[in-house]
Amino acid sequence: MYVSIAGAASASLDRGRRSRHFGGMNNSSYMDHAFEQARAAGLRGEVPVGAVLVDASSGAIISAAGNRVEETGDPTAHAEMLLIQEGARKFGRPRLSACDLYVTLEPCPMCAAAISFARIRRLFFGAYDPKSGGVDHGPRVFQQSTCHHKPEIVGGLDETRCAELLQAFFRELR
Ligand code: ZN
Repeated sequence: MYVSIAGAASASLDRGRRSRHFGGMNNSSYMDHAFEQARAAGLRGEVPVGAVLVDASSGAIISAAGNRVEETGDPTAHAEMLLIQEGARKFGRPRLSACDLYVTLEPCPMCAAAISFARIRRLFFGAYDPKSGGVDHGPRVFQQSTCHHKPEIVGGLDETRCAELLQAFFRELR
């Protein structure tokens, strides 16, 4: 219902796996953290999506979150929104232009817009989401003339594992 594996993704997966290094961690390690957040979210009964926000200059993880929609009763409590809110609080400013965001699923239109507003430098995401995504699918938020900041984007990083986690979750719901 949420996810399907896009055929074009294996090339970008390999590209993502080769990955540049930041402060001792690489893209895959950050995605590992995001994946752990996704798994934890699934165990709480949330759609298993997880994300981490990274200070790109130091390589430090600033915050990590999974979806908390069910727990908080807040339809906007997607992992990316929680990270952006926490990051802005920690830095004391609304723009996070020195930050990279890693998330296990292609952001929805709401989160893509928030990522743009927050001036996130780079966006890495795992599984593609043809049903509800807003980056490579649907409104393609970053490609619109009304979008004033487009991060660098790498999709399909660790895609298979991220997609399988979501598929297993929805299989159990049925
Ligand atoms: Zn979202």
